Amino acid sequence: MYDTENYGKSNREATITGPNPEYDCYGRSTGVCYYRCSGCGVEALHRVDVQTHCRCGERR
Ligand SMILES: [Zn+2]
Repeated sequence: MYDTENYGKSNREATITGPNPEYDCYGRSTGVCYYRCSGCGVEALHRVDVQTHCRCGERR
C-alpha cells in the first residue's frame, strides 16, 4: 500500500497528494487529513508546509 516505489522514479514529476485521511493503529480514521509529496515523501497537515519542505523542485 505504501508507494515507496515512487521515491526513485518521480523526482521530476512530483505531485502533492491530499488531503489524505490519516488512520490510527486500529485502522480508524483520526479525523485528520494530511498532504504528501509523491516525490520526496514529505508529509504535512497543510499543503503549503509540504511545499516548504519539498526539495523536488530545487533543481530548476
Ligand atoms: Zn517533494
